Amino acid sequence: MSTLRSIPGRQAALGPDMVVHRLLPTRGLRTVGPWCFIDHFGPVRVSADDFAVGPHPHIGLQTVTWLLAGEIVHGDSLGSRQPIRPGQLNLMTSGAGITHWEIPEFTGQQTMHGLQMWVALPDSVRQSEPHFEHHADLPSMRRGDMRITVFMGRLEGLRSPATTWSPMVGAELRIPAGGAATLPVDPRFEHALVVAEGALQLDGQQLDAHVLHDLGRDRQQLDLRADVDTTALLLGGEPFPGPVLMWWNFVARTADEIERARSDWEAGRGFGDPTRFPGPPLPAPPLPGGGLRLKG
Ligand code: MN
Repeated sequence: MSTLRSIPGRQAALGPDMVVHRLLPTRGLRTVGPWCFIDHFGPVRVSADDFAVGPHPHIGLQTVTWLLAGEIVHGDSLGSRQPIRPGQLNLMTSGAGITHWEIPEFTGQQTMHGLQMWVALPDSVRQSEPHFEHHADLPSMRRGDMRITVFMGRLEGLRSPATTWSPMVGAELRIPAGGAATLPVDPRFEHALVVAEGALQLDGQQLDAHVLHDLGRDRQQLDLRADVDTTALLLGGEPFPGPVLMWWNFVARTADEIERARSDWEAGRGFGDPTRFPGPPLPAPPLPGGGLRLKG
């Protein structure tokens, strides 16, 4: 049934000058459809060095990068080099294993604001070849006073060209101050709203930034309004089948898989040619002493 739970994110430090709000996984909630990780960063003025993330591995997921301000350059072990700006999508499908990095190329300081999200891959494609895609041209429409841009899956007859592996939605909703809109949604989907800037009102309740607003299932439509210029993301999908075990940069089903991925990474196996990385690979943290367990 449809519920509204507003779960505060927690702050995580990505570096000395880089704090993010981690909104998923969170207390009592591991996934929203196939979405299994949401980090909201900024707006913050940073130098390129503050924002650089060195080569690190992924398995079992797609990384979805969405910006509201700034520019990031994605690089990966497939040879991709792709700048991304607001309104564009960088989508990396790890399959069985990929290494990527973000090395900003701007000089001086720049305002960075955006979200880094992960989508869990279903079993049928978890062992597939890695793949990277960039989409600069995404479907967009106006509904009421709201501008909708669909970057993953489908919403309101719009379908993103991005490759997805389970029924889902990832969309940016922009409402100017004083605006309102009614948005039909798929009642089979679980949904969450993330306010990136401003504040949204859903059915008269105020939804703030840095909080995961879990809308549950069985909603037919969302009645949205905003008193200030607001940008939010609607994320959702069919409930993800089966357990999702997450540790560090790995999404898997069993502790064995995670341990194997960790030892392969440490040995320089299975994640592309380390001699072609632009810097030293990030070391994996030690495994927890009590072993890995499924949470939630
Ligand atoms: Mn990553």
